[in-house]
Amino acid sequence: MSVRLDRTIQDTGTKFRIFPQPRFLEGFEEPETIVLSVPKDQIQDGPADDRFYVVDAINKQPYNYPYAPPHQGDSNPPVRPDPKTGHFDHLDVDSREFKAAQMYATVRRTLDIWEDYFGHKLIWHFSMNYARMELVPLIHWDNAHSGYGFLEFGFGRTSWGGLDEDRPYCMNFDVLAHELGHSIIFASVGFPNPTTETAEYGGHGEAAGDLVAIVTALHSRLVVDHLLDRSAGNLFSVNELSRVGELAESRQIRRAFNYVRMSTVTNEEHDLSKPLTGAIFDVFVEVFQKKLVQANLISQDLADRSYHSLNEAIDTDQIQVEFEEAYQGNSEPFREALFAARDYLGSLLAKTWDSLSPHYLTYADIGLQLIAHDAEMTGGEHEEVIRDSLAWREIQFPSDSPALQSHYVSHYSSMRESDMNVELKREASVSMQRIGKPKTKSRNRRREAAKK
Ligand SMILES: [Zn+2]
Repeated sequence: MSVRLDRTIQDTGTKFRIFPQPRFLEGFEEPETIVLSVPKDQIQDGPADDRFYVVDAINKQPYNYPYAPPHQGDSNPPVRPDPKTGHFDHLDVDSREFKAAQMYATVRRTLDIWEDYFGHKLIWHFSMNYARMELVPLIHWDNAHSGYGFLEFGFGRTSWGGLDEDRPYCMNFDVLAHELGHSIIFASVGFPNPTTETAEYGGHGEAAGDLVAIVTALHSRLVVDHLLDRSAGNLFSVNELSRVGELAESRQIRRAFNYVRMSTVTNEEHDLSKPLTGAIFDVFVEVFQKKLVQANLISQDLADRSYHSLNEAIDTDQIQVEFEEAYQGNSEPFREALFAARDYLGSLLAKTWDSLSPHYLTYADIGLQLIAHDAEMTGGEHEEVIRDSLAWREIQFPSDSPALQSHYVSHYSSMRESDMNVELKREASVSMQRIGKPKTKSRNRRREAAKK
């Protein structure tokens, strides 16, 4: 969401308190007040609005088609706003009502942010049957799921196997935002049919869920301050995760900082998502660094050295010291650069998702759309970064794709068909070798070293 729109809704929206990361993580023990776009006079008890409604069901089994919303059984009374102010920021953080409100506020905030990036209303994929999404925050179940017309959440498991009542999934911002991310993809990219579905469609959905969660979390003041204060903006450092500290336990952020490539993952959708999430997250970090350089907050030399800080000749502690000097007294402009990179990524992803076909979807299609929309948004300012990041992850057209074949001016009329096939395969393999090599070797070295 643009910083400007976020400021506008501060005056017109409804206040809630949420934990933007699990409250057992250091630095996130206290809730943060957020403002949703829905005005006080349009928010209903529940909480509910025109897109979502909470039902705090009791003694409920998980939905399992044809068992589907709306919930017909018993439920706790709807959560009501503070009668004095009309906001929902009065709830006791340890109460059941708070948990129901956190679930609603997190998904509503996620939708507010992403509809701003899309520039239009997202129509739920279940709109033929339901006007609103049902949110069930706390059922007695060791799982959580999103389905046709609902999100339904239970609890994590303790190490000895029972339900962990202290860790309900509805209090986990990342899990909620990731699940809503699936609904965002269904609303924008849509569905293949059984004959046109690819493994990369599934991998893309999981990557999208993680990226939606990360971009949404980067709207939290607590998360952004924590990330910048711990790293001093040196997100490319090898020690980025340890410097970010407890935030490294955030599963989305942990999954985004990865060094896997297409040749090192399986076709299982969560595994297959990692090279795509990693490539797109790398684009975000590089765009952030470019913005730091453009604002004269760090030098080009420091940015270049941080790219390949694992090169043995480079002193990583020295780089961190230089970042800390640059960050000192400049936290506000660093934050602005982070917001600019975040909003670039959010808009780029929304435009990309709106233009993808779900049928026969490949990561190469996504790469082309990222480059096309970067051209439209920035005149191609980040094209090389996108290309290098995808190439390093080995994201390319499949070797049998017609995209890799040449098209000749004249037919090989004198060539026997079998010879022609050999010739086409040879050409395809030569072009794969040629395009599979990213230009920026320094970035490769950094990642090669980090894999060890
Ligand atoms: Zn998922």
